[in-house]
Amino acid sequence: MGRLFLVFVLSFSISAVVAQIKYPEDYFIKPLKIPLILSGTFGELRSNHFHSGLDIKTQQRVGLNVHSSAKGYVSRIKIAHWGYGKAIYITHPNGYTTVYAHLKKFAPKIEAYVKKHQYEKESYTIHLFPEANDLVVEKDEIIAYSGNSGGSGGPHLHYEIRDGNAKPINPMFFGVEIPDTRIPEIRAGVVYSFGDSSHVNQSSRLKELKIIKKKNGTLTTNQIEAYGTLGFGINVIDKQNGALNNNGIFSLEMTVNGKKVYEHKVDTYAFSETRYLNSLIDYGRFYHKRQRIQKCFVEPANKLSLYRNLVNKGYLQVEDSLSYTVKITAKDYKGNKRSLIIPIKGKKDTVLVTKKITETPNYFKANEFNKITRDNITVAFPKKSFYNDVYFKFDYKDGIVSLHNQSIPLHKNFTLTFDVSKYSKEKRKQLFIARKNYKGKLYYTNTRRKENKLYALNKTLGNYTLVLDSIKPKIVPINFKNNQSLTKYRYLKFRISDNLSGVKFYRGEIDGEWILLEYDAKKRLLTYDFNDKKLIGTKHTLKVTAIDNVNNTYVYIASFNRKE
Ligand SMILES: [Zn+2]
Repeated sequence: MGRLFLVFVLSFSISAVVAQIKYPEDYFIKPLKIPLILSGTFGELRSNHFHSGLDIKTQQRVGLNVHSSAKGYVSRIKIAHWGYGKAIYITHPNGYTTVYAHLKKFAPKIEAYVKKHQYEKESYTIHLFPEANDLVVEKDEIIAYSGNSGGSGGPHLHYEIRDGNAKPINPMFFGVEIPDTRIPEIRAGVVYSFGDSSHVNQSSRLKELKIIKKKNGTLTTNQIEAYGTLGFGINVIDKQNGALNNNGIFSLEMTVNGKKVYEHKVDTYAFSETRYLNSLIDYGRFYHKRQRIQKCFVEPANKLSLYRNLVNKGYLQVEDSLSYTVKITAKDYKGNKRSLIIPIKGKKDTVLVTKKITETPNYFKANEFNKITRDNITVAFPKKSFYNDVYFKFDYKDGIVSLHNQSIPLHKNFTLTFDVSKYSKEKRKQLFIARKNYKGKLYYTNTRRKENKLYALNKTLGNYTLVLDSIKPKIVPINFKNNQSLTKYRYLKFRISDNLSGVKFYRGEIDGEWILLEYDAKKRLLTYDFNDKKLIGTKHTLKVTAIDNVNNTYVYIASFNRKE
């Protein structure tokens, strides 16, 4: 009784704290002058992270005016080859910061500021933190043009609102209006049995539930007979009006016999916790079936702050000969909701089908440091790399290190070390550690060198091997030839590539001076804009250098004529 009371008090006080936060609803205006249609919602489940903003569709176009949501100053500018690409952060007098990412270009005054720093630093990628009076912007001022830069898979604007602690907040709280009358779609439901004696229909394996749609739209399943500790999960997506995109939901809750035992809402979280998403979903199932099941229970290692109103962390204890009705409800931000009802009859039974557990010599405890050494390799996992204890599969043959497989998520980097004493000094310099995917494709992993050892830090399990790269990168001009007149040209374009380890560094010069080459990493395209500089004289020399990750270097040189 005392414990129950404590649970009640705790959950009550947590929700009371959350409910206090009131966000200003009329402060920010929308960043684009088109009807807002989303290809991504806040908190949507992505690879190893929650989506931290809204993805606003830009009608398959780039170059739309992006407006500052309120007055403030540019507090941060970042240009990266991947991730957010070109991004602007604006800090506002009310303490919030708005973020605009995957931009094509900045508005003229910001563009000039950025170029000045790029030429000073001699780098296309840059990370700037302007002072409060450097770049002041008004509400509605055009700050940039929308694009598809960085890791973006199609033209859109990624828009975020962060609080003073740099925590992203669901922008919908600030009065963003998105028409949405569509109800979330529950596409799958599963039940997990935990421990030796728990079971569903005499099986301790994962049970996939057949979803039955009733005439009134309610989703239900056949009654299951079960006993012991159970956990539930569903696959669910949501769509907004006017688009086919499968977006994320806003909240998920579960009741047992009408009493709430689980709830999470994507309102705000810290970037430091985003990777725990891999514990919120059934990661193994995602790996095998590309289907994200959201669990309605919280595993011990899961430190996400999104949960509310948990009873027994969402795990259900089913007793013999009692009946239960589990109801799982998914809601979007507008409150459109869909429920799945699972009737359960408690029945203690013999377990006929048991879990498949492949025992291995390496039983890794999640709370301990784990390490394997074999021949010339060592792999070491820090404490709490794993969310659960695991029989770890390990193999090392034909030069390939097999580290279990990608069905297990890791929370921290492991270190893989190769002793390369047996290679000549020359060859050691050209070796790197690569991850090899199931198709045999090799991916460079950031390889560090210490004496006669190579090592790399990674969070992805799977196959790793040493690869030798002795081939230089390539630079191919796209729109011009050597010894050409380029007087009428606005741009110079090159394609840059490397066969194995990948391009680490590039540098362009005209007549010995650094030039800004914009790099589109997805297209492997370098572009120079002749408007950047005034050239002196008519005969010029162009030099572009590319270095791969093991320092093979290629230098491209061309001459051209140009009258300014
Ligand atoms: Zn986004």
